[in-house]
Amino acid sequence: MGKKAAEIIGVGAKELIAELNKALCDEWLAYYQYWAGAKVIRGKMSPAIKAELEEHANDELKHANMLSERIITLGGTPVVKFEELLKLSSCGYDAPENPDSLALLEQNIKGERCAIDVYKKIVDMVRGKDDITYKMAVSILEDEIEHEEDLQSMQEDLSK
Ligand code: FE
Ligand code: FE
Ligand code: MG
Repeated sequence: MGKKAAEIIGVGAKELIAELNKALCDEWLAYYQYWAGAKVIRGKMSPAIKAELEEHANDELKHANMLSERIITLGGTPVVKFEELLKLSSCGYDAPENPDSLALLEQNIKGERCAIDVYKKIVDMVRGKDDITYKMAVSILEDEIEHEEDLQSMQEDLSK
């Protein structure tokens, strides 16, 4: 990042990088949770729900890419140690031990609600201070909101 770009960030770069790295850990765990869930799923509506879980897994991986690119631009290093993922994550990892489709939906809805909180916090942190990170965080937040909605509507369909 150039000097002028660094000047206009207006929020502690270290603090921001740490926050983005925490979100990166959440994204990797969310990616794996969806990926594994899509493999083991069975039960009601499982073909449709499997497709949705796979789609969300890809979105989470895309988010991980966006975050790591931004961390590097800000002069930081994306988390490289596997054991740090669980340690730094805000939302944690819920192993899809119960392959039942409704159980997987509930588990991932919980994860999406946590992700929404994570990005709301980052959006608030950089609003009016770092427009580039702001734009990225808003765009990820939009995806997480859509994820929650998609899973919730499938859960409602299943409960009918
Ligand atoms: Fe995500
Ligand atoms: Fe998501
Ligand atoms: Mg979806």
